[in-house]
Amino acid sequence: MLKKILIANRGEIALRVIRACKELGIDTVAVHSEVDADSLHVKFADESVCIGPSPGNQSYLRVPSILAAAEITGANAIHPGYGFLAENDHFASVVQSSGLVWIGPQPDVIRRMGDKAEARRMMQAAGVPVIPGSEGVLASVDEAVGVAREMGFPVIVKAVAGGGGRGMRVARDAEELRAAVPTARAEAEKAFSNPDVYIEKYLARPRHIEVQLLGDKHGNVVHLGERDCSLQRRHQKLIEESPSPAVDAKLRQRLGETAIRGAQSVAYDSAGTMEFLLDEDGRFYFMEMNTRIQVEHPVTELVTGIDIVKEQIAAAAGEKLGFKQSALRFTGHAIEVRINAEDPGAGFRPSPGKVEFLHMPGGIGVRIDSHVYQGYEISPWYDSLIAKLLVHGRDRSEALARLERALAECLILGIRTTTEFTLDLVRTPMFQTGDVTTRSLESFLEEYDAAAEGV
Ligand code: ADP
Repeated sequence: MLKKILIANRGEIALRVIRACKELGIDTVAVHSEVDADSLHVKFADESVCIGPSPGNQSYLRVPSILAAAEITGANAIHPGYGFLAENDHFASVVQSSGLVWIGPQPDVIRRMGDKAEARRMMQAAGVPVIPGSEGVLASVDEAVGVAREMGFPVIVKAVAGGGGRGMRVARDAEELRAAVPTARAEAEKAFSNPDVYIEKYLARPRHIEVQLLGDKHGNVVHLGERDCSLQRRHQKLIEESPSPAVDAKLRQRLGETAIRGAQSVAYDSAGTMEFLLDEDGRFYFMEMNTRIQVEHPVTELVTGIDIVKEQIAAAAGEKLGFKQSALRFTGHAIEVRINAEDPGAGFRPSPGKVEFLHMPGGIGVRIDSHVYQGYEISPWYDSLIAKLLVHGRDRSEALARLERALAECLILGIRTTTEFTLDLVRTPMFQTGDVTTRSLESFLEEYDAAAEGV
């Protein structure tokens, strides 16, 4: 049924989708901005269409240009990747009403999950534990203070439309909260054109645990286990792994069943991720659902052997999931690190420019997902991800040794990257033991910054 898929994205994720399509025998159409004409996703696709100038809002975010490209090339389905229009329900519904297949969940599910306050309500109604917090959007600062006093400080103010770690503010007392609400509202208005915020209890030392889900149009939903994404900088993930050092088989089953219950309550019919915070007592709480493929999905592919993008495409085409929960086996341990064109010695400032020399690691148990090649010019217009480096080992200790080995093989010259920083981080006792929380990087980064300044 799906003969030709247009990928409304760029970079490594566009390549990732193209690779799945090639293996499925589906033709591909790349769209690209002017500056991306030489990108690998353009070279690897069967056809390509230039959809506008470099800024995202004049190309990758331009719905009419993308639909025109689909029309011209005769594509009959659209894969949005992640970022850009992937969680834009308006785009999803326009795609569907144009007679094209949308490779993602239904637009109303995207819309309702995209509103974090609404998502909390829905999940609570489905019996999924949520972090204590306000009932929906805050009407006033006084209401925020009232709710916070009732459940106790610290609290976190979050934008209902939030994403990418933006629009969040932690407050330790009423005074801080009175300042945090207007700041978070202003930030949310600027970033998401929606100032609405809500509050949650701020957990002291949680782990970020997310569950990968796959659903089809026949009411089936399975979970593919968890990913631990606790190592974060400013609420953004740096390293992801599966299984989580903090999750045993029993907890995995409870997390999985809870995530499936939540997804089934909204008739979820695609690939998606339910994010939880796990507290020190082993209790977990729903945080949000990402209604798209995620950057870190290959971690799960390595431990399950399942190609999540192929399953997502099959589900969109109306096929039934090809396996049952009981058939899934988790093998070994996988870790992903993100190598970015950023300068860790200068506050992780983006470092665009030409890649003068490139050597990517190889060997047993190594996977590289990257759109970068030697001579490639990293553009300042888009995110700074150069490559996702993944390793798979029989157990965590083999995966760790492999990761160190692979990172040491990685050589990228001409721009600054996070390779060395990541290697230093991987070698710390905290990462080696796996005893980390979402706050663990804060002190490591302080020491790192101090060392950088001392040079
Ligand atoms: P975004 O959609 O912007 O990524 P999330 O809601 O997924 O935002 O939260 C991102 C990160 O922020 C979490 O992984 C966690 O580290 C931190 N965080 C969010 N909510 C809380 C909370 N209630 N308590 C403690 N940390 C939180």
